[in-house]
Amino acid sequence: MSILIKNIILDGEKKDILIEGNKIKKIGKNLDSKAKEKIDGKGENAVLPGLINCHTHAAMTLFRGYGDDLLLKEWLEKKIWPLEAKLTEDDIYWGTKLACLEMIKTGTTFFNDMYWHPKAAIEAVKEIGLRAMIGLVLIDFDSKGSKENVEKLYKRLDAKNLEPISLSIAPHSIYAVSRKNLIWAKNFARKYNLPLHIHISETKKEVKDCLKKYDLRPVEYLEKISFLGEDCILAHSVWLNDKEIKILAKRKCSVVYNPTSNLKLAVGNIFPYKKFKENKVNVCLGTDGPASNNSLDMFLEMKIASLLQKHKEKNPTILPAKEVIKIATKNGAKALKVNIGEIKEGKLADLILIDLNQICFKPGHNFISDIVYSTTGNCVSDVICNGKILMRERKVKGEREIIKKATQRAKELVKRY
Ligand SMILES: [Zn+2]
Repeated sequence: MSILIKNIILDGEKKDILIEGNKIKKIGKNLDSKAKEKIDGKGENAVLPGLINCHTHAAMTLFRGYGDDLLLKEWLEKKIWPLEAKLTEDDIYWGTKLACLEMIKTGTTFFNDMYWHPKAAIEAVKEIGLRAMIGLVLIDFDSKGSKENVEKLYKRLDAKNLEPISLSIAPHSIYAVSRKNLIWAKNFARKYNLPLHIHISETKKEVKDCLKKYDLRPVEYLEKISFLGEDCILAHSVWLNDKEIKILAKRKCSVVYNPTSNLKLAVGNIFPYKKFKENKVNVCLGTDGPASNNSLDMFLEMKIASLLQKHKEKNPTILPAKEVIKIATKNGAKALKVNIGEIKEGKLADLILIDLNQICFKPGHNFISDIVYSTTGNCVSDVICNGKILMRERKVKGEREIIKKATQRAKELVKRY
């Protein structure tokens, strides 16, 4: 399969891009090729790397708008957990498909997931053609999340043959997974060379409880059990002190900023971006699940990410547009260790085309500013992932069926409760 994209705006200049197989083969002017597929940008489309959502729970699309504006404890105990207990493989399959459809429509080509029934999620992602890292969830209070089950799943899933999908080990958090099981998770992950994906320091209570139990703050506790390393992706990372940030820098961990979820769940603190940057910690961006966001649109997330830091630091020069695009692309690729995140020859072909005719790009003084502050994911016209066209002129194969089936599953799920 080869694709030739003609007359596309790349870094302010009109260029052609040739994709062969799953890679960007050549970028230049007036490229000629016998490519099977041709897309003409006519100088009216720009290209960006596909956005990378570094922390989500995709199938929670089924819970979108179900129980908003509640206290976290009430929301989890009365709304989310009872419903999650009733989830079937089929629910996960359609919920994940709906999430994938939303991500494609809003320009995300890679997501880092953590949720139940990974086999069904993988099937959905595979059929739709996105790139994803699917976490095998470890949790103490559900047999689906036992270490025996994670090990069984890992062996059954045949990780080497899932490309472009990969697996991670995902112990939910330090409060939902025992010390013994966290140690098991990091040993298992390192034995099989799998990344570790965990929630950390999302609330003040988590820090308080950890101090009470171990006389250590959450990051100090993870450091003590030798959990931290370059293979760690730490979602939230909101309630951290300077010492913890220095530990994460030393261990070369990646942290995921989830601004909308943090605001909506009122976690009471703002992600310490400036300190992470000063300490050269790799910062990525994520939406968190669609029950606590409620959108998977990374364009919205970029805008909120930047505005919230400006507000926190009382400084409008913090996290400028160019930098926020980098955390949503290149930094995500670094965390997930995949050759994506930039439009360059030799990179894997994950890219999105932007419709510059939309009002939000007019008059067009600064494309990068418009991307972060003015538009939404609706500006994406075409999506290519791993060298395959997933959306052409905003049309995705099978989208009507996905919307219909996922809506049906969500309505039936609520009735089961
Ligand atoms: Zn989460």
